[in-house]
Amino acid sequence: MDGVEALPPLRETIAAHGFDARKRFGQHFLLDLNLTRRIARAAAPLDDGTVIEVGPGPGGLTRALLLEGARRVVAIELDGRAFGPLLELQAVASGRLELVEADALRLEPRDLGPAPRRIVANLPYNVSTALLVQWLHAATDIADMVLMFQKEVVDRLVAAPRTKDYGRLSVLAQHVCEVRRLFDVAPTAFVPPPKVTSAVARLTPRPAADRLADLRPLERVTAAAFGQRRKMLRGSLAGVFSDPVTILEGLGLKPTARAEELTVEDFVKLAGLLDSE
Ligand code: SAH
Repeated sequence: MDGVEALPPLRETIAAHGFDARKRFGQHFLLDLNLTRRIARAAAPLDDGTVIEVGPGPGGLTRALLLEGARRVVAIELDGRAFGPLLELQAVASGRLELVEADALRLEPRDLGPAPRRIVANLPYNVSTALLVQWLHAATDIADMVLMFQKEVVDRLVAAPRTKDYGRLSVLAQHVCEVRRLFDVAPTAFVPPPKVTSAVARLTPRPAADRLADLRPLERVTAAAFGQRRKMLRGSLAGVFSDPVTILEGLGLKPTARAEELTVEDFVKLAGLLDSE
């Protein structure tokens, strides 16, 4: 290993740099190395390809990734103030840490280093879903994702049909990835504590042959269906199909069903028929 183990506790590093959490950046820091190492281990193996960390902040999770043996971490941070602590970490990381000052929403995973690429992040909650959807579109370039969300978001990611949490995000995520809820994290684990409980999920993209190359038709169909989730599909899909009843019946689905009754596979079939419209 290298000098990462010899660093002072993160709390001291943050104090030394006067790096206070700001609401504007959605900042809630993880200082507990047991927890950050647990998140890092969930993303294993880390010793090949590139680990992309979004929003490292003062670098708690970054430290853990390096301690768990990451070969190359590319950390993308929007808040320039974080680079004081991050440069200190980089100095003892034996060339294993690259720092990028940028908005992750403007970057594509394939430009960030060689495959296999694993994305690991305690995400800023205000952009977490937008980033996830962007990464679902880029799934071909991603080997694995281990991400912290608000617990409610993970509930939606793993939700089954006929439940209140089942929606657009469930269908998109489950079609593209094998999704697993790993563990919950209490507000007290963060400095400052957020208002809600968090949860870590792993999303592993399925082989390219098992998923749509272009997700946009699936986004359109699910947006229409769940945009009016109390409506029968024959009504809610009227904006995307000229004859939704025939389309639904052709797939053996009831035109009177509601969005939440359809499986992920049903939505994928509907998406496949959009092209011919
Ligand atoms: N991962 C750290 C910090 C979590 S706070 C930890 O676990 O302690 C979330 C971090 O994401 C903040 O540092 C914030 O500045 C950063 N961030 C917010 N929006 C971002 C974006 N669009 N791109 C990159 N970083 C972002």
